[in-house]
Amino acid sequence: MPATSFLFYRTFLPALSELDDAVVLSFDNKTFLRVYGTNVQGMPEHFIHSGNFFALPYSKRPELRTKERILALQERLVNAKTNGLMTLNVPVSYGLKTPIWQYDTKDRLRALEEGLKAALWAKENAKHPDLLYAGFEIGTYDDAMYIFNKASDVGLTRFAAGFGLFSRFIQFRNEDKLKQFEVLAAFNHVLNERGTIEFHVSGGSALNILELLAYANVSSADGSSAVLTGLAYGSVLTASGSLIRANKLKEWGCDCESCSGSDKHTALNQLKSSPEARVRHNICRVRLSEARINEALRENTLAELTERRLKEYDKKELWRCYTMIRKTKSRM
Ligand SMILES: [Zn+2]
Repeated sequence: MPATSFLFYRTFLPALSELDDAVVLSFDNKTFLRVYGTNVQGMPEHFIHSGNFFALPYSKRPELRTKERILALQERLVNAKTNGLMTLNVPVSYGLKTPIWQYDTKDRLRALEEGLKAALWAKENAKHPDLLYAGFEIGTYDDAMYIFNKASDVGLTRFAAGFGLFSRFIQFRNEDKLKQFEVLAAFNHVLNERGTIEFHVSGGSALNILELLAYANVSSADGSSAVLTGLAYGSVLTASGSLIRANKLKEWGCDCESCSGSDKHTALNQLKSSPEARVRHNICRVRLSEARINEALRENTLAELTERRLKEYDKKELWRCYTMIRKTKSRM
């Protein structure tokens, strides 16, 4: 069954704790509960990740990122607002020099098998097995077909995969995106044959691929770009999905909830001077995209919306991703 809704989880920021849009938390997050305490009603919905293997401390100390420790710490965070727990996604390597698809097949498959083992272990041992998403790091179409069929054979119906890691290197950027959609094409093939499977995409979720993700039957995604670009890079998202550095802006007109509260001049100055204002605006833009996607899903017009947005984004590789997914749909 195709996905019927799409939910985006942004990076959690304590300074914006009054916003109620969904957030992603790492399994070792300590601030979230400190901010909300026992006020579960006041919390945003959240997805609890298995942590970034490529970031500190785990890049240096992978022994802190075991399936047991991930589940134990995730379960301390679980409450009525928790939508999902991602199990240990095992990388082929902790190094980031070589993209995953360039490793030997046997090394890639070994990592995927380990990921599958971790997911099955979590299913046996979790207090809330219904919340689990089996986590994988997948780099090719064939690997994805292999592991999704195998996971489905043993009764797993919720998958999660990490993406976007090599998009930070200019020489891999386009290929990284294409590989992500190869994996999602494989997911769609398996979905066509097996029925209901939910898919969570972790990372690789910039604003300009949200429609494509939903079109690929992804039901949820998390990404840091809306928050990170506003904070670290001083950039704001435009209505057409591109990023502009706020200090380069000459004028500003934005109908988002955050900007429309003040006149154009004040809104522009706030974006230039306040990281928080940039993040608020970026989050609003993501929300607007998400709402439009869900409306299109309800009205069965997602293909039209995706094509319209791709014309605005105007990126050749995104059209190639679209074609890949469209081919899997013609068999439905
Ligand atoms: Zn705005």
